[in-house]
Amino acid sequence: MSKFVFVTGGVVSSLGKGIAAASLGALLESRGIRVTLIKMDPYLNIDPGTMSPFQHGEVFVTEDGAETDLDLGHYERFITTKMSRINNFTTGQIYDSVIRKERKGQYLGKTVQVVPHITNEIQDFILRGARIGAGDEAEVAIVEVGGTVGDIESLPFLEAIRQMGLKLGTFSTCYVHLTLVPFLPSAGELKTKPTQHSVQRLREIGILPNLILCRADRPIPEDEREKISLFCNVPKGAVVSVYDVDSIYRIPRILFEQGVDDVICGALKLSLPTADISVWDELLTKVSNTSKVVRIAMVGKYVDLKESYKSLTEALNHAGIHCETKVLLEYFDSEVIESIGSEQLVNFDAILVPGGFGERGIEGKIKAIECARLNKIPFLGICLGMQLAVVEFARNVSKMAKANSTEFDVLTPYPVVALISEWTANDGSIEKRNLSSEKGGTMRLGNQLIRIAEGTLASKIYGNVTVERHRHRYEFNNVLRDFLQKSGLVCSGETEKESLVEIIELCTSEHPWFLGVQFHPEFNSNPREGHPLFIEFIKAGIMNSKKKLSKREVDAGPVSKGKHETSKL
Ligand code: GLN
Repeated sequence: MSKFVFVTGGVVSSLGKGIAAASLGALLESRGIRVTLIKMDPYLNIDPGTMSPFQHGEVFVTEDGAETDLDLGHYERFITTKMSRINNFTTGQIYDSVIRKERKGQYLGKTVQVVPHITNEIQDFILRGARIGAGDEAEVAIVEVGGTVGDIESLPFLEAIRQMGLKLGTFSTCYVHLTLVPFLPSAGELKTKPTQHSVQRLREIGILPNLILCRADRPIPEDEREKISLFCNVPKGAVVSVYDVDSIYRIPRILFEQGVDDVICGALKLSLPTADISVWDELLTKVSNTSKVVRIAMVGKYVDLKESYKSLTEALNHAGIHCETKVLLEYFDSEVIESIGSEQLVNFDAILVPGGFGERGIEGKIKAIECARLNKIPFLGICLGMQLAVVEFARNVSKMAKANSTEFDVLTPYPVVALISEWTANDGSIEKRNLSSEKGGTMRLGNQLIRIAEGTLASKIYGNVTVERHRHRYEFNNVLRDFLQKSGLVCSGETEKESLVEIIELCTSEHPWFLGVQFHPEFNSNPREGHPLFIEFIKAGIMNSKKKLSKREVDAGPVSKGKHETSKL
């Protein structure tokens, strides 16, 4: 039977509860046990699949094709256990399941209530989430409670985890509370009162934390930690300072240095070997050894919200670490490129067009791709980025005027990207196309095997086969494939069974590094190894930057003037 570590949050949101929970997982794993993580989300949507990235950030896709909270991405980047659809559930799923049971008469005429029916259902989902693979159970399951203590929405979750402590008995559960200790410049002090109040709130519900993780912009001195210990009734050694650091991958070490794993192992009565965090230490050495710089322009739609491309920015970060290179990522709003042109992109070492949905900014992305192709700038297109690379090629190289994806122009004369049900409409009979607003086929989600053609850029990266995750509806139109290939487009990867095009590229004699992938490699990247596709992309950027350097003296200052923000990874 698994033991459980519950992670709650207090004071404010956005303290990095997901990263804290994942770091606890990494630390426990480093003591030689199998760990899993579960995220409970207190909203009524069944999953975040249909939620706006503006509101919710990225949708993380698991191997088994579940559309989940972005925290599962952090989990996979910190621990080795792979997440699946059982590792994330929402209030919506809990109510859905209880109401279905009620309709089937499974409650035998009883009044169905939040306590015990909803809280029992939550506990069942937690127990189910502790399984790894076919039936195996994790020795420790870390359960992150979404939201903040005091939210109306989180109450049933908190009640459920309180009850689990009672039901499972001593040494089976451990409660970790993450709070904020703000520094007030006017007082020149770190303030512990919000933490005291937040823990009080938790104790009112009946949960006594075993460990308090205190987020602050600086290390918290002993005096303040003593105060928190006294007022919150937690031993001093269990009040931990989690301060701002240059890399999130430093957090397992910070927790280790303060004996967090010992506190948890003590609370759960686990006698384990001492932690071996050498993997994280080696990684941190690499993080501080970034001698080169590569500048990447990312042309997307959700530029104001970095959370929307979380896995992608992390994957680039990982690749940078493994190439000893600092990745300077500059975000460009594709609508701005659409209106003012793509000239400013020429100065970048590489260009990236990420995935996305909807028509807004499409033409700007196509301009960015054209700029990368014509100026021989290394280019990576992911999902929508790959589809638009096909559209750009079709329009400008194959001379298929007004070629498009039917996602944006259902009447296009050349539907080079379309729902499979629309492909046959290439005989001119536009009527055959699905003109209804309904999206047609379901999304292609999760892992799929990809065969790679020999002698291609893709084969240098992957060998002859790979497995990657997917999340899209529209496909490269195989009816038009011959035509596109004749004008030079290389289809270098396809699914094994249906021959759906997965990777496109340009001949290396035409362009040094131009690749579009229908899948999402960013979901498969972890900091310890990096992902070969991103590593090769960064290497191509470094090569390009060297080439430019040898041509002229480079002004190291910022070049672009569009609406964007710079982020140092
Ligand atoms: N909108 C495109 C599709 O559904 C691409 C999706 C994506 O980039 N994830 O096929």
